[in-house]
Amino acid sequence: MKERIIILGGGIAGLTAAIALRQLGYEPVVYESARELKGIGAGFGLASNAMKAFELLGLESEVAQLGYPVDSFRICDELGRALIETDPARLQARYQAENYAFHRADLHKLLMAYLPSEALVLSHRAVSFKQDDDGVDLSFANGENLRGDYLLVADGVHSAIRQQLVPSARPRYAGYTCWRAVVDNRLVGVEEGVETWGAKGRFGLTPLIGDRLYWYACVNAPARDAHYAAYRVADLQAHFSHYHEPVVRALSITKDEDLLWNDIMDIRPLRRFAYGRALLLGDAAHATTPNMGQGACQAIEDAAILKSELRKRATFEEAFIAFEGRRLKRTQYIIETSRRAGWLAQLSNPILVSVRNNLFRLLPNSLAASQLKRLYEEDFIEDY
Ligand SMILES: Cc1cc2nc3c(=O)[nH]c(=O)nc-3n(C[C@H](O)[C@H](O)[C@H](O)COP(=O)(O)OP(=O)(O)OC[C@H]3O[C@@H](n4cnc5c(N)ncnc54)[C@H](O)[C@@H]3O)c2cc1C
Repeated sequence: MKERIIILGGGIAGLTAAIALRQLGYEPVVYESARELKGIGAGFGLASNAMKAFELLGLESEVAQLGYPVDSFRICDELGRALIETDPARLQARYQAENYAFHRADLHKLLMAYLPSEALVLSHRAVSFKQDDDGVDLSFANGENLRGDYLLVADGVHSAIRQQLVPSARPRYAGYTCWRAVVDNRLVGVEEGVETWGAKGRFGLTPLIGDRLYWYACVNAPARDAHYAAYRVADLQAHFSHYHEPVVRALSITKDEDLLWNDIMDIRPLRRFAYGRALLLGDAAHATTPNMGQGACQAIEDAAILKSELRKRATFEEAFIAFEGRRLKRTQYIIETSRRAGWLAQLSNPILVSVRNNLFRLLPNSLAASQLKRLYEEDFIEDY
């Protein structure tokens, strides 16, 4: 097909959208600012809804082979006593899709393998964009300019092009900062997903395939705090020294060079994703805090829904508007619910922590799962 489609950003949103468009016969080209694209060295979870979207794109079985099936997930206090136990297996049985944990690099490699080398152009950081009745013009930091017919904006939470389209949509800091790493699980032996909520912060552990273990730690802090920016593994060990095993063990085998650190950001729900010939996707459109593990899941849903709308509509502009109609409410719900969940999980006042923990111990597990239920039950695929 002759439409020249530019995709900005080679993250999960951009790569999955490129695959979806190629399945319709288009030949989109992804422009990515990084010099190399390999997926950062951390893990993440993909819930049933993302696996369903991959299934609609025909990728589910290959993707699933890279994932560690998450059959159970527990939230506990800093002594390791259970507060909530969700039962993904029951939800799986009901909605016929599984939850998995992945190493990001594995998923990136798989998605890139679906694209020909000419579909990915590296070292191109877009700085501005214009559109007229006939097409879009993109300018890059290296001085190059590019003209195309349509633009998919998937350049992440700090999207330069979204900032131009919606200047008020600045990334907002969630109030906590996060370290992540992947270590050798043969030295720790974690078999299920566990997240610990303590007054000094949150610590999560999830096994990955290949005997690897992904951990993350979230601590309340001012934005871009110099004190925490200087944190090394030894500082995290001191910070979490009173947390239950296997937290202490996982930290003890982490190397400084494996630590990833960033402040947690989202964006206030937008009112639009479609701007004529341009469409916002993934974190550029609806970045959310990671508390529901849904950011990448929503990027994958985006690709499946965009494909479905492009198949049904006469023009790209119509498909973009229809996409927006199907995505605004669902992503808004996730951004808002996830932000609230983060507030609860990151409580640091010992009295409030104790009240929260006692309440959670009294809650039936079915209530804890109700949030997930809404996610899975909503028919995001409609008439796919
Ligand atoms: C700590 C943490 C844990 C998380 N855990 C989970 C989880 O368990 N499950 C889940 O579903 N999600 C999770 N997420 C969210 C998930 O990582 C994101 O939602 C997802 O990666 C977004 O993908 P994206 O492609 O939209 O954006 P990104 O991954 O940010 O990709 C954007 C790409 O665009 C490129 N780019 C940026 N600017 C430009 C430019 N101007 N020009 C060209 N290219 C540009 C970047 O280099 C990058 O490659 C987590 C996030 C964090 C921070």
